Amino acid sequence: MRIVRRLLAAASLGSAALMAQATAQTIYPLTRAEILAGSKFDFKVEFPGAVAPEQVKVTVNGTDATKVFGAEPTIEASDDGPARTDYWFRQVSLSKPGSYEVTATAGTATQTVKWEVFSTGPRRARNVILFIGDGLSMAHRTAARMLAKGIVEGRYGGELAIDDMPHMALVSTSGTDSIVTDSANSMSAYTTGHKSCVNAMGVYCATGKSPNAYPKVENIAELVKSRNGGMAVGVVTNTEIEDATPAAVVAHVRRRSDYDNIVRAFYEAKPEVIMGGGSPFFLPKSDQDGKRHDEENYLEKFKAAGYRFVATATEMKAAGADKTTRQLLGLFHKSNLDGALDRLVLKKGTVSRYPDQPDLADQTQVAIDILSKTANGFFLMVESGLIDKYAHVLDWERSVYDTILLDNAVEVARRFAADRNDTLIIVVADHSHPVSIIGTYDDARPGERLRDKMGIYADAKFPNYPAADDKGYPPSVDVSRRLAFVFGAFPDHCTTGKPSLGGPFKPAEEKDNKAVANEVFCTPNATRMEGNLPFVQPQGVHSADDVVLTAMGPGSEAFHGRIDNTRVFRVIVDALGLAPGS
Ligand SMILES: [Zn+2]
Repeated sequence: MRIVRRLLAAASLGSAALMAQATAQTIYPLTRAEILAGSKFDFKVEFPGAVAPEQVKVTVNGTDATKVFGAEPTIEASDDGPARTDYWFRQVSLSKPGSYEVTATAGTATQTVKWEVFSTGPRRARNVILFIGDGLSMAHRTAARMLAKGIVEGRYGGELAIDDMPHMALVSTSGTDSIVTDSANSMSAYTTGHKSCVNAMGVYCATGKSPNAYPKVENIAELVKSRNGGMAVGVVTNTEIEDATPAAVVAHVRRRSDYDNIVRAFYEAKPEVIMGGGSPFFLPKSDQDGKRHDEENYLEKFKAAGYRFVATATEMKAAGADKTTRQLLGLFHKSNLDGALDRLVLKKGTVSRYPDQPDLADQTQVAIDILSKTANGFFLMVESGLIDKYAHVLDWERSVYDTILLDNAVEVARRFAADRNDTLIIVVADHSHPVSIIGTYDDARPGERLRDKMGIYADAKFPNYPAADDKGYPPSVDVSRRLAFVFGAFPDHCTTGKPSLGGPFKPAEEKDNKAVANEVFCTPNATRMEGNLPFVQPQGVHSADDVVLTAMGPGSEAFHGRIDNTRVFRVIVDALGLAPGS
């Protein structure tokens, strides 16, 4: 047992104080954790205050933890945060499935947590493709279907690929610290099977400031690369590749903003396919485009590691068509790519500066073409990430066009999986937004104000978007009877009920530590909306509402009813047989 000297001094503090302080020790993984047999995790107990080592007793199903983990714990006094004594076993695992009762005692104070360690059945899926519609909510689906498939006399002209799947479940997304999650911890639940707190991924939100204070849990990239003979991994998005959702496939960080370390995690994990935006965080700070805080040049590192680098859709397709391409790094934008409405219809946003951006459906095709060369199969994550970003700025048209974008990417995967029964496809949101379709705004209605133009119930009738093109996109959103797609939470802002044709909408801006309406949009015929969010909040927010998951392929029958988001991980690792009957 390694003891840090400072402890001995602390031990003299007198046991009374010691006993009182030790009541609230915290054990990580938290209670009710479901742990994949054999998966690695950090085991941590935080005892408040200074605890003498001989006072500490930790058992796992009644057996001393040192025997169970076959290692000696590290016990260290820590003062980065409230004074405490940390008890660690790093990167341990439990191979025997079953229920575990873990008890940590210091003096008279005892804390117990219960875990379930689970094994998997035999492997049934060769590949898993996980689609994340970031912030995809029910209204997004409904609006996307109306625009892409049309609706006549109440009947839709067809099904979305994301809907038309044999299995469906409701997924609850709350994290360890709050009913409302953010993308980091919700995606981390999908990629590790463990819950975490807002902004964190691949770790538990324990006490402390140093990066090592947070107990790590093994993620899907690490798991599939070290099992089944080594599978391939792909991470594809149209946001910055360092953003929370793609990052949670590979990274272990307490803060989703820790882009430097997230890029390092990508390099260490080496997914065979990496595609998105956010190129500046691959470049050293001395580079004119570099945004790193160090002099590391990860672009050169990836090239040196054998990656083919591409920066445009044209280059990406060439790489995809090249039979020799086995590792691909695609960085198509300094920030987030533009969404489908701007890229394909309005040509706004940054399209003029980035005229050759890839479409998520093409990215998906190229990723599958490259990954399916790996004999042991692959895990691919594809994110339509701008659904969320546009929902935050109350720009529903752009959010819904990127829902149709997701649908097209899913269609590519369905075509790949169609004549082979070895690929599990899952489509799910990481969280929802408070959105709903309550009627239409009809310019033909009398009156000038927004509320005059709103049609509800029978007066809503049907929107008159032109018929969609072969990709499901109406060639215009600037029509006379538009959906009244409303947001349940918003800052002060002005709205006309019309699409923002000049570029993505920006409802509010920060002024004197307050979010105020963006006057650019407060045109004479606009309606000024008083916000209902905290006064400092300049954007729309996530909601705690459950999200819909749809799935097809081997293992998808496990999805039904209401499930916790951590269950998605379990179904994935079970389909891949990552811990068969151990
Ligand atoms: Zn979000």
